Amino acid sequence: MNCLEVSMLLLLVLHVYIVPVALVHGQHIRPKPNQASETRADETVYFLDTSGLDDAGTDFYHFARLDMQLLEDLPTWNFINFHTTDDHFYGETDDGMTACHLMRHSSSSTRSTRNDKLLGMVSDRENNIWYEIKPDLHGDVLVTATFEGDIPPSAKDNAHISQAQSLWNNLRSTWSYLRDLPWTLRLDPAKEQVIDIMIIWSENSECYRSFQHVDCTLTEDTRDNMLASSEFVIATTNFALAKSDTSTVFNLAHAQRDTSGYREADTTQILTDMGVPFFGQLSYLHPLRDEHKADLVSFIYDNRIMVEQGIGGRALLPIPPGLPLAPFMAWSTYCVACLGGGYIPAHEYGHNLGCFHDRGTTDACDDNKNANYGYRSPTGTFRTIMAYSCVPGECDDYQLDRVCSVIPYFSGPASYQNGEVMGGEENNCRERIRLDKRTVSRFR
Ligand SMILES: [Zn+2]
Repeated sequence: MNCLEVSMLLLLVLHVYIVPVALVHGQHIRPKPNQASETRADETVYFLDTSGLDDAGTDFYHFARLDMQLLEDLPTWNFINFHTTDDHFYGETDDGMTACHLMRHSSSSTRSTRNDKLLGMVSDRENNIWYEIKPDLHGDVLVTATFEGDIPPSAKDNAHISQAQSLWNNLRSTWSYLRDLPWTLRLDPAKEQVIDIMIIWSENSECYRSFQHVDCTLTEDTRDNMLASSEFVIATTNFALAKSDTSTVFNLAHAQRDTSGYREADTTQILTDMGVPFFGQLSYLHPLRDEHKADLVSFIYDNRIMVEQGIGGRALLPIPPGLPLAPFMAWSTYCVACLGGGYIPAHEYGHNLGCFHDRGTTDACDDNKNANYGYRSPTGTFRTIMAYSCVPGECDDYQLDRVCSVIPYFSGPASYQNGEVMGGEENNCRERIRLDKRTVSRFR
């Protein structure tokens, strides 16, 4: 090897190794020095110094690594980017025990002090804590912490079945089904990978999202924070869809505040009200859905004013398992407090795509015909998006009683980082989504 070759090799080494290392120093999120924590609208918030990101422009997701220390008594996590091709950063620490989503939202608000907003969530899988990163009204970036066991889970009772069994709902569903029949003929090969989503949020969920009290004054900034959250929901769900190899992509077709002054009280009621096409406070969603060609529609509610408490979300899906999906089952609802951890929105969309909870939670351990169930690891290391937390006493004879952290994967034959299979062929939401995506993409 001559001198030139050695220097070329050095150049190559420099190019490959020095550049990513240099980037690490440019991206550091840490607690704001001398900034005490505050309580806002029943949440304790901590201020974050994100100045290290400012030089980086809006496309930091292509960075190789990201350093982050959220609170002064937490370590600095070094996240390695797992996701270089989408619209947001997803990183995991070396040991895989901590994961981070980050996204920037380009603000449409002229009054905002910053042009774009940082949103994110960090999952500490060892301690089962989720940290949510979001902006307040003044452009400050704040972080809040939630124990995973305190995030309200998706509804697991079968209220949506009894809802479908009432006479009125049968008539309504039949009418909707007949009206929608031409959807089976909507052939658009270019669109078949893409499912269009419309998100509507209640006025009070908008208050909550910007750390405001119930019945706050809504502004262009509170609206913009919800728009950012809607984009974040789609980005994180898309990450899970991509990583689970579903070959399905969500597109945020439309997002807006509810215009009817709807006051949320109960998730079953919300789904019923969403489904009523001609009269009722939310019937305007139907022409709006047609206008934006939204295949699926979601409503975000504020848990603070719900009569029904402790439910993170609810969605329609065909019961029993194996029945076909149809356009009148396109509705889902989830809580605004659930946007910052636990993948609740992705979970509800999973229902709309035909997936059930894990077999233990569904009491379906003997179902040999269907495989569209979520999966929780027998070691308690993880659960997939559709699975409930790990509890004993159900038909899967689960032995542990502990919170097991949800990971951004739908169940299927792939392996988790520790080598454990994430469900195999018997618990395979991935396959159900792959089979049904074309159907759902034709709903509108
Ligand atoms: Zn559920």
